Amino acid sequence: MNKNNSMNFETKIIHEGYESEKYSGSLAPPIFQTSTFTFETAQQGERRFAGEEDGYIYSRLGNPTVTMLEERMAALENGEAALAFGSGMAAVSAILLGLTKTGDHILCSQGVYGCTFGLLEMMNDKYKISHDFSAMESKEQLLQAIRPETVCIYVESPINPTMKLVDLQMVAEVGKEKGIPVVVDNTFCSPYLQNPISLGCDVVIHSATKYICGHGDVIAGIAVGKKDFMRKMAMTTQKDIGGIISPFDAWLLLRGLKTLAVRMDRHCENARKLASFLLTHPKVAHVYFPGDEKSPDYAIAQKQMRQPGGIISFTLHGDKETAQVLMNELKLIKIAVSLGDAETLIQHPATMTHAVVPKESREKMGIEDTLLRLSVGLESWEDIRDDLEQALSKI
Ligand SMILES: *Cc1c(COP(=O)(O)O)cnc(C)c1O
Repeated sequence: MNKNNSMNFETKIIHEGYESEKYSGSLAPPIFQTSTFTFETAQQGERRFAGEEDGYIYSRLGNPTVTMLEERMAALENGEAALAFGSGMAAVSAILLGLTKTGDHILCSQGVYGCTFGLLEMMNDKYKISHDFSAMESKEQLLQAIRPETVCIYVESPINPTMKLVDLQMVAEVGKEKGIPVVVDNTFCSPYLQNPISLGCDVVIHSATKYICGHGDVIAGIAVGKKDFMRKMAMTTQKDIGGIISPFDAWLLLRGLKTLAVRMDRHCENARKLASFLLTHPKVAHVYFPGDEKSPDYAIAQKQMRQPGGIISFTLHGDKETAQVLMNELKLIKIAVSLGDAETLIQHPATMTHAVVPKESREKMGIEDTLLRLSVGLESWEDIRDDLEQALSKI
């Protein structure tokens, strides 16, 4: 349904994957709230199951509202095909289980999302699919960490929650050289800020719960990649494990996507201003923000990201209690995990999103007890700053 491949991002987020003419001119896409699809004849059912005729069968195998979302997401990530899932973790697990078997090894960036960490542990314990975390600062370092049994390189950039960046083009080159697929969790960037497939990576995963939805009212996931690979995932780990998205949630994501570009611009602008404020605040020990010119990742941010993003992490002088006092003093900023919403959210990784990670690994990832992660919202940046200022004055 690529009517016009030359459309710009800001146009694709609104139009790609949907043709109103096909649906009585309905400007908003219809929600196909149905579990199954009737066949005109027994023979038609036979042909559909045999894959000899296109058409829908049962909503776990495909649904028109979900297809619209998948086509739009594939276009936004410059991929060939996309699959939508009922959560980001359903997407991560479908892809990782799809790529591996017992005895295989997954090489991961230095940090990964807390539940991805849990999944990797489970895959190791139950199925003997092992993994390692490695810094990926140079080709040599990456090549050294790759084992003969490595079948997947799994990368987050920025790495949650320390905002460390990985040079995706460099990782993609090593992946190509070794014939190992590179999977990127692109949640923190959304397709507006970074497109790993355009940088040579193979598969992109999103927790669509975050910026893609943008309104804090859906849990969902997306995976984008080559047509043959995604088709294989659709017919195995998606269909048979069954972590699919509901048509209504797919519709909410299509709706959220329409404002992705304008939302991201504001998230990023607010974050830039708040990072400058935090960088000069005496109670703040360290600010992790790839838009900071002094950040070691500034050059990579300039190279592969449209803007440095809407998330800032920072540490305080003090201990865990200092961080908790600050959080409790905040009035406008809400204490909550998740990110990418209109509301500014703050969370404490050591006791929340990364509490499952053993302290030793946490420290290796740079997750100190005073580290806080701020998902900068769409409010007036001055109001967010004032709230931080008054809370910082209490510690
Ligand atoms: C939230 C998140 C996930 C998991 O997504 P869910 O939609 O909560 O299942 C995976 N990766 C990253 C980077 C996330 O922020």
